[in-house]
Amino acid sequence: MTTNDIRPAAGTRDRKAIVLFSGGQDSTTCLAWALRRYRAVETVGFDYGQRHSVELACRMKVLARLRELDGEFAERLGDDHMLDMRSLGTISDCSLTREKAIAFEKNGLPNTFVPARNLLFFTYAAAVAYRRDASVLVGGMCETDFSGYPDCRDNTLKSLQVALSLGLDAPLVIETPLMWLDKGETWELAHELGGDALVELIRTETHTCYMGVHDVLHDWGYGCGECPACRLRARGWQEYLERRAGAKS
Ligand code: ZN
Repeated sequence: MTTNDIRPAAGTRDRKAIVLFSGGQDSTTCLAWALRRYRAVETVGFDYGQRHSVELACRMKVLARLRELDGEFAERLGDDHMLDMRSLGTISDCSLTREKAIAFEKNGLPNTFVPARNLLFFTYAAAVAYRRDASVLVGGMCETDFSGYPDCRDNTLKSLQVALSLGLDAPLVIETPLMWLDKGETWELAHELGGDALVELIRTETHTCYMGVHDVLHDWGYGCGECPACRLRARGWQEYLERRAGAKS
């Protein structure tokens, strides 16, 4: 697929999708993408003992605001499923689930990496999809600006798509509309999907910061402004503004 193409392919409109939805910028953009594309969309969220529950608190607000924003969104957005995966926090020793500083490990991966997290998330989402008669899973993974997490890679998720389809004996498609976009292009995609109103919703309601800071509103949104997630988000916002300014002149 071409990730920027927001128009659905033939036959896609009849499908129901499950979106992995955390309340962050990427998964909110993916949710809007799915709502434009599929006849029905449900969301799954995961409580895995995140250090900061602000992300989970943002989820419900974002869902409510999306419904208010757009009639098509309101019509298609269905149930939200919150899954308890706190056992993941007890078996992984990473800075997202424990009180420790963000740093790089010897293998080059940041210690924000929760081993196998996305594999588990998609597997759980597939079980929900099976029960809810959905045939598409959507996630905000991205190879362009990612931190090297091997479970965000396109090939990892393509092989998981095959494994899940075989294991459930039901064809499942994993869609990752942000896979080849940079953070500036992710803002641009949000603009294509819902104009300035959706961009503003994402800027002011979503949470990305690793440190859980949600009381300082920068021009790119809430966050500490220092952690890797905030720096990436701020840089993407700047690129988005520059591109838009360039497009107008
Ligand atoms: Zn931050």
